[in-house]
Amino acid sequence: MSSIAITAFYKFVAMDERRLRAVRDSLESFADSRGVRGLVVLGGEGVNATVAGLPEVITAFKEHLAEIFPGEIVSFKDSSAEKMPFARFKVDLRSEIITTKDLSISSEESRGTHLTPSEWHRLIESDPDVVIVDTRNDYETEIGVFKGALDPKIKKFSEFQSYLEQGHLPRDKKLLLYCTGGIRCEKAVPEVKRLGYENVYQLEGGILRYLEEYPEGFFEGECFVFDHRVSVDARLQPTTIYKLCPHCGNPAKERLSCKNCGKDTIVCHACVPHEDKNACSKNCAYHIRRTAASRKAA
Ligand SMILES: [Zn+2]
Ligand SMILES: [Zn+2]
Repeated sequence: MSSIAITAFYKFVAMDERRLRAVRDSLESFADSRGVRGLVVLGGEGVNATVAGLPEVITAFKEHLAEIFPGEIVSFKDSSAEKMPFARFKVDLRSEIITTKDLSISSEESRGTHLTPSEWHRLIESDPDVVIVDTRNDYETEIGVFKGALDPKIKKFSEFQSYLEQGHLPRDKKLLLYCTGGIRCEKAVPEVKRLGYENVYQLEGGILRYLEEYPEGFFEGECFVFDHRVSVDARLQPTTIYKLCPHCGNPAKERLSCKNCGKDTIVCHACVPHEDKNACSKNCAYHIRRTAASRKAA
C-alpha cells in the first residue's frame, strides 16, 4: 500500500491581485500546518497544481480547495507513491497558468469538445479514421503516447500554435487532442477551432484520468509528470525505468559509469553520444571537458 497520495488539478477561474494573494496565503498556511508539498501555479486565469501528502491530508486539502473556489468544479487526477515526490511546497504567481504566450482559453469555443475517458476510448475503438494529436513536448511523447498519435515534436507548448499554422492536421477527420492532465488542451482546442477545424475533441482529465479507467487501453508507454517521480506507468505508479538526465533534464534510461568519477549513472539517449556527458553530473561533465581541452593544448 502506497503511503503518499498525489493529486493534480487545474481550474480556470478569473482572479484579481487581491484574491490571488489571499488564495496563496490560504494554501500556504494549510500546506505548512498539514505537511502538504507540491507546486501550485496561480494566475489571473486560474490555478494549475500537483500536490502530495498523507492520504487523509490530501482529502482535507481537496475540501479546503472547495471552500476557496466555491461552486467551482475541480477535477482531480489521483495517484500514489511510496516516497514523497516533492522537496517542498511552493506557490508560483505567474501571468499564465500554462505558458502559451498567445493562446487564451475560450469556454465558448471549447463547449461540447470534452470527451470522458470512456467516450474517448469508445470513439478510438469504433472509428479507425480518427486522428489523435498529442499536444505535449517531445521529451514527453518520447516515453509514451496514444497508439498512432500525431506527435508535433515541439520543445515547449508555446510552439504548438506554429505547429498548427503549418497545416499538418487533416481538415476532413475527427481530431482528438490530449495532454497530461487536460489543461493544455483547454487552450489548444479553441485555437484549432479558430483555425477553422470543426470536428475537434479533447480528453477530459488527460492521460492521467484515462489511465485511472483504462490501464490497458490505447495509451502506450509511460506518462511524464512534473515532479520527482519523472513518469508514471499504466497503473499510475512511479516509474521503475526512468530517471532525469543529469545533463538535459529529460527522461533517461541508458546506464553507464561516469568517465570522471566512476559512479554508476543514468543518462538520456540523446546525451550518450557526447563524450563529456558520459558523466554522473554537470560537474563531472565539466571535468571531462577540461581534461580533454588540456590534452589538446599539450
Ligand atoms: Zn540528456
Ligand atoms: Zn561523476
